[in-house]
Amino acid sequence: MRLRGVRRYHWARDVDEALSLLSAYQGKGAFLAGGVDLARSPRTDLEGLIDLTGAGLSYIREDGKGLHLGATATLAEILSSAQAQEYAGGILRETLRLVAYPALRNMATLGGAVVSAHPWADIPTLLVALDAEVLYRNAEGEKRMSLAELYRTDFRRIFRESVLLEVLLPPLPGAFAFEKIGRNAGDIALLNACAGLALEDGRIAWARLSVGARPERGERLPWLEEALVGERPSEALWRKVEEEVRARIEVGSDRRASEAWRREVAGVLVRRALARAAGKAGT
Ligand SMILES: Cc1cc2nc3c(=O)[nH]c(=O)nc-3n(C[C@H](O)[C@H](O)[C@H](O)COP(=O)(O)OP(=O)(O)OC[C@H]3O[C@@H](n4cnc5c(N)ncnc54)[C@H](O)[C@@H]3O)c2cc1C
Repeated sequence: MRLRGVRRYHWARDVDEALSLLSAYQGKGAFLAGGVDLARSPRTDLEGLIDLTGAGLSYIREDGKGLHLGATATLAEILSSAQAQEYAGGILRETLRLVAYPALRNMATLGGAVVSAHPWADIPTLLVALDAEVLYRNAEGEKRMSLAELYRTDFRRIFRESVLLEVLLPPLPGAFAFEKIGRNAGDIALLNACAGLALEDGRIAWARLSVGARPERGERLPWLEEALVGERPSEALWRKVEEEVRARIEVGSDRRASEAWRREVAGVLVRRALARAAGKAGT
């Protein structure tokens, strides 16, 4: 554990207490949820940790606006929740089972995953495809915004002084599929993709696509979403999509995979995700 400077641990009983404790540390405190990331991070600047897991943010509930996932709900709790399993044809279950391994999922929270937003992570790619909204609170009040929009801001600075309260997943038509490629099961992604489709009279009426893990944090492909509407799902269509993704997508390079490899594989993952989503949506 590389948090040697930490002298105090606080168990916040609610969000107001968490915020006032954080402010008292004047930049030398941090929120703690599952602790999976914090335990690995070399943060020698911290003096106090403020545990959010008792602050009433572990709920999973549904209403007319959609599925509300409290920030400290663990990945395992979401996996075993009946409401989460039913959402959008079971895409939460399908994806979260690909995240690391059970021991980690028992500790890691959804909020921690949204805030840490690793460039290779699966959860941002999933949530961006699902049009997720986030709700957070700081000294100025509460703010709700789309996760895709949040990720275009300096979100790490925002969460130095804000508590993420929940992720809201709106009701969506159709069915989704998630594809991830890593070196082995349990490994982090070299690339991932999420596709959602709704069909009407055998034609695509609505589409959602995001690709992540360099591109970071789930990039939507609006040009492809629009182009798919009105088309009939077919193997020929998916092959054409694969070629177009390969030609147009912007991917990154790092020590784990080259830009050329990611470009090649992005087409394959989008094709596979679309074909599976179409299968689930009823072709
Ligand atoms: C070995 C390993 C494998 C992994 N594999 C995958 C994978 O395959 N796919 C994938 O998508 N992800 C993967 N992850 C990432 C994992 O999902 C996240 O690390 C985890 O969800 C973080 O959650 P946590 O509750 O442990 O966060 P913590 O470590 O408690 O916190 C992380 C950061 O978020 C802040 N924070 C936490 N909660 C809040 C809140 N409510 N409001 C404001 N700030 C907050 C903390 O201050 C800290 O800065 C992996 C991580 C590890 C360590």
